[in-house]
Amino acid sequence: MMSVKDEKFVSCSPPSDRTILLNFQTTPPLSESHRPKHECGVFAVFGHKDAPLLTYYGLFALQHRGQESAGIASSNGDGKVFCLHKGMGLVSQVFDPENLESLKGTRAIGHVRYSTTGSSTLLNSQPLGVDTARGQIAVAHNGNLVNAAALRDELENRGSIFQTTVDSEIVLHLLAQPDHTMGGPIGSLRRLEGAFSIVVMGENEIIGVRDPNGLRPLSLGKLDDAWVLSSETCAFDLIGATFIRDLEPGEVVVINDQGLHSEFPFVPAREAFCIFEYVYFARPDSRLRGVTVSKARVNMGRELARLHPVEADVVIPVPDSGIYAALGFAEELGIPYDPAFVRNHYIGRTFIQPNQLIRDFNVRVKLNLIGDAVKGKRVVVVDDSVVRGTTAKARVVNLREAGAKEVHLRISCPPHRHACYYGIDFPDPEKLIANQHTHQEICDYLGADSIGYLDVDGMVRATGLEKNSFCMACFTGEYPVPFDAAFDKLIMERRKDSAQLLADQSAQPTLITARS
Ligand code: SF4
Repeated sequence: MMSVKDEKFVSCSPPSDRTILLNFQTTPPLSESHRPKHECGVFAVFGHKDAPLLTYYGLFALQHRGQESAGIASSNGDGKVFCLHKGMGLVSQVFDPENLESLKGTRAIGHVRYSTTGSSTLLNSQPLGVDTARGQIAVAHNGNLVNAAALRDELENRGSIFQTTVDSEIVLHLLAQPDHTMGGPIGSLRRLEGAFSIVVMGENEIIGVRDPNGLRPLSLGKLDDAWVLSSETCAFDLIGATFIRDLEPGEVVVINDQGLHSEFPFVPAREAFCIFEYVYFARPDSRLRGVTVSKARVNMGRELARLHPVEADVVIPVPDSGIYAALGFAEELGIPYDPAFVRNHYIGRTFIQPNQLIRDFNVRVKLNLIGDAVKGKRVVVVDDSVVRGTTAKARVVNLREAGAKEVHLRISCPPHRHACYYGIDFPDPEKLIANQHTHQEICDYLGADSIGYLDVDGMVRATGLEKNSFCMACFTGEYPVPFDAAFDKLIMERRKDSAQLLADQSAQPTLITARS
């Protein structure tokens, strides 16, 4: 395994026939927000002379899926030279013409990250690379492995040495196992449980993997003779690639010089695509399972209007993800639509936020309200979710101060009452306002005149797809894949801490008594 440090450095091995070029940089981490956090985005190109550059553009299109770190691994035609550049921050901050130029090759994989397992550090950024007895491998992963701790224990007991605290590194070690131990590289993937859309670059191929429940998206496209894999189809549009199809749940596609072939190595499972991709995560211009996300959101707004109609003068969206649901809501009830909240798209990651100097500053700096649009009016605000309630409450205050006569909140999905263990970073259930309070209590807390959530059936109808093909566990508590109840984002850190403690205890036996 390559050794990396959590600081800026450039390491280039002397050229050889098996060379890995490393390049890392850091920028400050993102500030906290009260929105649900995106997960990650993956992208891959096989068979194009500009594969690294296309991957860079692809990551730009997927930036909404993760803003903590970005990286690209590329490989030349004979697969012997692997190059890797990654860093903390946005794609635009991590890459510049110089480091992009250093990424050569006809194959590349890329990753944008929001951390859902393992802390947000450069060490944990992806792609992850390793030079093994079976050749070099680089991996980029979207999702959460629910059996990560058990697999890591097993692999460490076999002698694997882990460098990071991300579950994705487990994929790397499984792929690196000798053929006889786990049924070859693809067979070894059968050990994975949970949510995973993965792109792997080996010396001879690029592999795309989708978990048997199909929790996270992964689509296949073509650009001339090159194959492209992407978390979302919006990235195909940017680079001019043609969408071919979504990978099936449980499908593994292997792309090499002989072409593309697919395998289904996993035990078949019920399809359980994350419905929150339609509500919030995915870009409105992406198509998921044949349904354009913006269309599903408009339909959610229409369903919401039929379920919770209200007499009002204006419908305003909370941008960006509330825009299409608000349009549908307004159209359904024949109420004027006005985008009265204006988003500031230019808040840099290094922006210094005052603590108590200006009330609700975090909310106001991102969204400013056009007061004239709501003054003296009965206002409906359409948002995609209420997580903790603090942001929604500040918005209601903002509307009241601007002179809104009535404020009615409409939410384009059911209340979030449960945690997600499949790659979405919702807070602990105790911090989810709908887990702890009734609708009336939430309405009173937010200071709204009324609140109405879309129900599960309306949300599913809006997609036009089968109800039992979705995961809706954060709404219903019905989890399609069993998980370890102790699982959370920092499980690997805690595991590492306790391993360190045990090592310390072995070195200083007297401490064992003290701890126990
Ligand atoms: Fe998506 Fe919710 Fe299921 Fe997580 S629990 S995968 S957010 S639907």
